[in-house]
Amino acid sequence: MSGTRVLTSVVGGTAVVGDDVRPDVNPSDLSDVVAEASIVGADVAADAVGAAAGAFGAWSSATPWQRAEVLDRAGSEVIARADELGDLLAREEGKTYPEARGEVVRAAQILKYFAGVALQPHGQALDSVRPGIDITVTREPVGVVSVITPWNFPIAIPAWKIAPALAFGNTVVFKPADLVPASAWELVDILNRAGLPAGALNLILGRGSVVGPVLTGDPRVNAVTFTGSVSTGKGVLAETSARGAKVQLELGGKNPLVVTDNADLGIAVECAIQGGFGSTGQRCTASSILVVTDGVHDAFVDAMQERMGRWSVGDARTAGIEMGPVVDESQLAQDLRYLDVARAEGAQVVGGERLEVGVDGHYLSPALAIGTDVTDTINREEVFGPVMSVIRATDYADALARANASTMNLSAGICTTSLAEASHFRRHSKAGMVMVNLPTAGVDFHVPFGGRGESSYGPREQGTAAVEFFTVSKTAYTAPGAP
Ligand code: NAD
Repeated sequence: MSGTRVLTSVVGGTAVVGDDVRPDVNPSDLSDVVAEASIVGADVAADAVGAAAGAFGAWSSATPWQRAEVLDRAGSEVIARADELGDLLAREEGKTYPEARGEVVRAAQILKYFAGVALQPHGQALDSVRPGIDITVTREPVGVVSVITPWNFPIAIPAWKIAPALAFGNTVVFKPADLVPASAWELVDILNRAGLPAGALNLILGRGSVVGPVLTGDPRVNAVTFTGSVSTGKGVLAETSARGAKVQLELGGKNPLVVTDNADLGIAVECAIQGGFGSTGQRCTASSILVVTDGVHDAFVDAMQERMGRWSVGDARTAGIEMGPVVDESQLAQDLRYLDVARAEGAQVVGGERLEVGVDGHYLSPALAIGTDVTDTINREEVFGPVMSVIRATDYADALARANASTMNLSAGICTTSLAEASHFRRHSKAGMVMVNLPTAGVDFHVPFGGRGESSYGPREQGTAAVEFFTVSKTAYTAPGAP
């Protein structure tokens, strides 16, 4: 016996052990095995769909108060355990402890927000255009929802999908990313102990290529909400839309931050640094392209290099560290490969070197590729690491055009003190989310979230938008009865 904690799938309220085991390794210290995930196959995934379908009657007929109570209790437990869960998240994913704890608190806020949403009215009562007839428009749960999530927000993304699914009376089969099973397991455990009926929330720890087709293709699954890469998302879309199931995709981002001659350079550098290197640059909303106008280009690039020189990289759980490791070896290799391609295409790369920090982990210094343009590979494809590139623009109009050249339009930002530029950019940016004098990353939970172009498909997530995906509407006409 190794003594390492073993995480199992949860089907119908019961732990299910699989045939295979996958270690959950700390990217800050490769000798530290956080847990072992017991990996199940397609048969267990099908059982989970069956359990969710079986629990639908009970959970969809639970009162709004009962649904709110479960989500609120779960949110309270997540908050109460924020230190411990934040430490676990930092340990298995590698974002710094303050970032990880912040993500845990965010998950709790989302659970509590959707507890409130469960109690709000979502229907309408209207007069018909025909005399004497009443119309009601009601919102009903969709049914069984598959929730498939990436590794970079191990608790917040699952929370922002599972909480609205449950708030509106759906039942769930949840498949987290292979790299982060422990945070996922804790969230499911907390929600189940908060009072869900058995089977309302099921957890599948399994390989995407094996269990994914069940979660997207089983006819008992009514809706699939997926966050991940564009390539996997395209497959999920093909599977689900072929059989007419509801589908929502949040995919990659290639997010520009425009810095104009009118920018406050101190604000611009901090927005770029936090937006591009926060969470090791492993955020779908990370700033990856800095489009800088001529008049401030050189001063901005100098200031960036000075700030990058002071950016501390190390073990995610060490106090004072600004950036943890890259999540795993294959992501680190991808980051380095994109930097090689940038050099080959003519960029000058600053940073972007493997770092020795005294412990064996996936450490990379932050990187800036200077002298690039929109057609370069590094500006067309998502790197998903602490890597930014700089594009020089002649003026604001040129900068806007270059910022809009991306096809993965999730978030875009501008740093300027000009109200005219800020207003114009807000209106004319192609992105789904626009930031003015703020990093491209960092969003609220009570408002819609999502991108345009290749970045998103289907209704928006979070906040007021969640009702669209997690319910179906019914319009009923009632003729007047006898007096
Ligand atoms: P990924 O596409 O490799 O995996 C996402 C999930 O899909 C994982 O749980 C994976 O196991 C599963 N999966 C794999 N094959 C599958 C299949 N055939 N069927 C169903 N599911 C399958 O993505 P990742 O590497 O975990 O995450 C990084 C990506 O996520 C980046 O592209 C990033 O931009 C994106 N992301 C987007 C948002 C957003 O809101 N737009 C947020 C966070 C991350």
